[in-house]
Amino acid sequence: CHTDLHAVRNDWGGTKYPLVPGHEIVGKVMSVGSDVTKYKQGDTVAVGCMVDSCKSCDQCDNHEEQLCREGMVGTYAGKDRISGEMTQGGYSKHVVVREEFVLFVPQTLDLSRVAPLLCAGITTYSPLHKWGVKKGSRVAVVGLGGLGHMAVKNAVAMGATVTVIGRSESKKEDAITLGAQHYLVSTNDDEMKDAKSAFDLIIDTVPVKHDLSIYTPLLDIDGTLVIVGQIGPVDEVNTVPLLMGRRRIAGSLIGGIKETQEMLDFCGEN
Ligand SMILES: [Zn+2]
Ligand SMILES: [Zn+2]
Repeated sequence: CHTDLHAVRNDWGGTKYPLVPGHEIVGKVMSVGSDVTKYKQGDTVAVGCMVDSCKSCDQCDNHEEQLCREGMVGTYAGKDRISGEMTQGGYSKHVVVREEFVLFVPQTLDLSRVAPLLCAGITTYSPLHKWGVKKGSRVAVVGLGGLGHMAVKNAVAMGATVTVIGRSESKKEDAITLGAQHYLVSTNDDEMKDAKSAFDLIIDTVPVKHDLSIYTPLLDIDGTLVIVGQIGPVDEVNTVPLLMGRRRIAGSLIGGIKETQEMLDFCGEN
């Protein structure tokens, strides 16, 4: 995951060393504690971006541990709720994780391809799921990188009509190969004008400061643009498309454990 690189290079400040990154972990259960009931030795399991939360606030009760009122504990560079030590991630021989934060890996999935589902997979599945994407939904995905390609595959599997939006034609072939039906070049004014009010949901995966206002007019009335990439400032937002069409700009962060398991099962089935 690119977050690993950001953390190791201290791109966001505050990195403490020594640090073992890695929050897309797949492996076998080596042993279990005496109170563990869900898993046994030898099970194929996974651990994603978090390893603990308070498990008693309204958000945790609602299976949204990523939004825990006391803060989720990140799989690495988090603060262990028991020892107070810094958590260390998946580029290690083994990890110790409480069972509530461990996921079953469906047998139908190729193990060598599961890891990205635990971060990019759930990051894109969650907003598609929360905003009710189903057969016939019109979904656009801005950017076709680590997050974008997962968004396309998940949305296609949900039955949506999917359009990838890129700055040039360079990713068109990949987009179509991944299952997208359409490709839109954001620097082509005519194409953008023709796509006005064309989407129910836009998943914006662009990881840097950018202009949202070129995308919001592409939403239909009551449509939503969900930011899953950039964490921080964006360009000045033009509110006209928001007011004139009750369009929304929202954000989304990974997903809860229950939803992550649903996502793995969904990917296993599809
Ligand atoms: Zn990640
Ligand atoms: Zn909580």
